[in-house]
Amino acid sequence: MTVYRGYQQHELDLQYSPSSLVADFGAVIDAYRDDSAAARALLPHDRRNLRYGTEPGQTLDIFSPSDEPGPAVFFVHGGYWQQLSKDDSTFPAPGLLEAGLRYVTPDYPLAPHARLDTIVESVREAFSWLWHNASSHGIDRERIVVAGSSAGAHLVATLLATDWTTRGLPRDPIAGAVLLGGVFDLRPIRLTYVNDVMGLNEIDVVRLSPQLNSAAVHCPVVVAWGEHETAEFKRQSSEFAQHLRSRGIPVTSFEQAGRNHFDSPYDLGERDSRLFTEVLRLVDGTAETLDRADRLARHRAWFSLPEDSVYLVGNSLGPLQKNSWQRVSQVLGEEWGRGLVGSWNSAGWFDKPRTVGEQIAPLIGAAPGQVIAADNTSINLYKALVAALALRPGRSVVVAEAGAFPTDLYVIEGALESFLGHSTRLIESGGLEAALDDDVAVVVLSHVDYRTSALHDLAEVTRTVHRSGALVIWDLCHSAGALPIHLDESEADFAVGCTYKYLNGGPGSPAFNYVARRHQEAARQPLSGWHGHRSPFEFAIEYVPADGINRFRTGTPPILSYAPLEASLELWREVDLTEVRAKSLALSDMLINAVEAELGLEVLTPRNPAHRGSHVALRHDHAYGVVRALIDRGVVCDFRAPDVIRVGLAPLYTRFADVQKAVEALKTVLAQEEWARPAYQQRLAVT
Ligand SMILES: *Cc1c(COP(=O)(O)O)cnc(C)c1O
Repeated sequence: MTVYRGYQQHELDLQYSPSSLVADFGAVIDAYRDDSAAARALLPHDRRNLRYGTEPGQTLDIFSPSDEPGPAVFFVHGGYWQQLSKDDSTFPAPGLLEAGLRYVTPDYPLAPHARLDTIVESVREAFSWLWHNASSHGIDRERIVVAGSSAGAHLVATLLATDWTTRGLPRDPIAGAVLLGGVFDLRPIRLTYVNDVMGLNEIDVVRLSPQLNSAAVHCPVVVAWGEHETAEFKRQSSEFAQHLRSRGIPVTSFEQAGRNHFDSPYDLGERDSRLFTEVLRLVDGTAETLDRADRLARHRAWFSLPEDSVYLVGNSLGPLQKNSWQRVSQVLGEEWGRGLVGSWNSAGWFDKPRTVGEQIAPLIGAAPGQVIAADNTSINLYKALVAALALRPGRSVVVAEAGAFPTDLYVIEGALESFLGHSTRLIESGGLEAALDDDVAVVVLSHVDYRTSALHDLAEVTRTVHRSGALVIWDLCHSAGALPIHLDESEADFAVGCTYKYLNGGPGSPAFNYVARRHQEAARQPLSGWHGHRSPFEFAIEYVPADGINRFRTGTPPILSYAPLEASLELWREVDLTEVRAKSLALSDMLINAVEAELGLEVLTPRNPAHRGSHVALRHDHAYGVVRALIDRGVVCDFRAPDVIRVGLAPLYTRFADVQKAVEALKTVLAQEEWARPAYQQRLAVT
């Protein structure tokens, strides 16, 4: 008989018994105790066992490096409300103190001696006491982050559901919350062995489940869980994250790789962990702190970047990746210099478009055999468009965005000249659905708008286009290397993109062509050069396309141009695009917030992070002059006609401090009207 969500009694008990997933539970508890004792040996000891309530056990420890007020983490331990103490919970403190934070951890009465109501109330009292007494213990009460693990995460979640105004605190006294492997819906707990001790009734579980009550506090929340948790613990976390999001609370949620239910709070004190970065973000959004906590910061050393200026045009031309020197000289010296014509075979020159294409594939969510690196974006778009049109006979309209990167529009126009009776239908943003009918053969869209940075939902839009019977070609120039892309998963048809922007392949590096495997056999591209032939070295008179993606090749590949791209892609293998995306949004948030708060400039980029790419577009009547003045102040950004200032944020090397410098420079340029200088009125050839 199943008792809950398809689980039988013993299964449900196992789901809520995280200790069943670790080999030696006793060792886990010993480690908490020993690691905490070792941590305390490193820390200042003068603020221990402070009383926050009158009951026995209502004490807390504060570890604070000074009397200067600073941000703090208030950590509530777990142990199914029955076990452990603050003395088993000091282990994350050294890492946090080293980063300039304070650490506070309370004891609270335990079950079965105390009922859950009493426990919840006690943790509330502890927080309230801390808030009132913060300043005398070196804590800035505006910057207290509450964190909890397991049952501690439940207790912290109840802090978020507390109306603090009835206790003489402000409505939002919490700067942020971190919930690790928590239980937020207690209904299944009542059905397990845990309730033998807890004695919760049906009314208790409804009252005391954060999932079933609305949050009173509005602060950013991080919800995380170990990779090796039970399915029920993972479900509890992701459903609670969803619950908070649906109430407009900013939530970051993720799985902690390699962690289980018990060691997940160790990440709180691990400088290299994502959790640590998130905690710093919650307590302190200053550029300096964010750069210090940035896990992508180490990649900056890969690039040649000027010391005296801030490079914010990586969305136009990525900087030189230093390993390119070696790769280029290898191609020149060994492959060409010594290998000569034999290198077409021995150095893999002939296969470059395919082998480099396979290196790009994981960055755009493509399984092997669907991407080549060849030609440029314009040529690849031409190939994809003509191939796609032939796959939709009887339909004669190409839909494109009026605001598309002009080369896309020009290529469409040129291609359609060879198709009698075909035409283009231009749409404004938001106008796609209305433009789709039975005549539409192909839709060409930029994933990220080169001007405004508006981002399409690739999967959703692809579905919409497919419903109308048309095919879609995605231009990924402004998204490849800036955010995760899922071409296969989204069932995209074709995609093109360049590699010299966020992918740092170098000026004129080969672009890419993606053709979904299901179209490859039928797709015929018009530039049927010999490298796309099935047997190019038979020199036959008749063209027979190669199998698979190779038929999208044209002629001899520019071997030298692949060298820096290969060097760059080698490093991209180490990069996690979800981290790139998270930092990109943090950078653009910082810029947008500062511009809106301090400069009053119009921001053309969508405010909703889910709807923007990795650059930010600002509007100014004298945008060209502003950009020239910024460049002279060492802040390199670019201008797009007629009135757009583009600020490109490339998470592998852009620092939060760079964004801050850009904001400062912009402030000066605007305040002193530097854009009006005569020297800035003349347009240079490349803007
Ligand atoms: C940069 C860019 C291009 C460039 O095309 P090329 O043929 O490689 O010069 C095309 N489309 C978009 C959206 C771009 O941002």
